[in-house]
Amino acid sequence: MQECVFCKIIQGEIPAEVVYEDEYVVAFKDIHPAAPVHLLLVPKKHIPTFFDIEKEDEAILGRLQLAAGRVAQKLGLEKGFRMVGNCGEDAGQLVFHIHYHLLGGRTLQWPPG
Ligand code: 5GP
Repeated sequence: MQECVFCKIIQGEIPAEVVYEDEYVVAFKDIHPAAPVHLLLVPKKHIPTFFDIEKEDEAILGRLQLAAGRVAQKLGLEKGFRMVGNCGEDAGQLVFHIHYHLLGGRTLQWPPG
């Protein structure tokens, strides 16, 4: 996906602070952090929204969840963290390549706005 900013990060065409990478998933720091730790967990496959996930993507989604706990532990978030996935206009999705925000390092309020 030529115009996708996350695809460009995955392909190394634009820089990002990558903290984790495996065959299916990459995690890098959000450019506008909303918490002391704010990562974006992104599948390497370009999938625009959670509506577009296919049965064949099951393994990728599993790897995203698996990576979340591992990355959070690696970054010392033993007290907890939050994963947020925005889908579509009402959720304020800005980048149309699915991702989870992984937030931690402070007490997080609930519910989000
Ligand atoms: P969402 O699509 O869930 O609303 O959020 C997209 C997130 O991607 C935003 O928090 C935004 O700060 C982040 N973002 C957008 N462009 C870039 C970029 O070029 N590099 C990085 N590291 N983060 C980005």
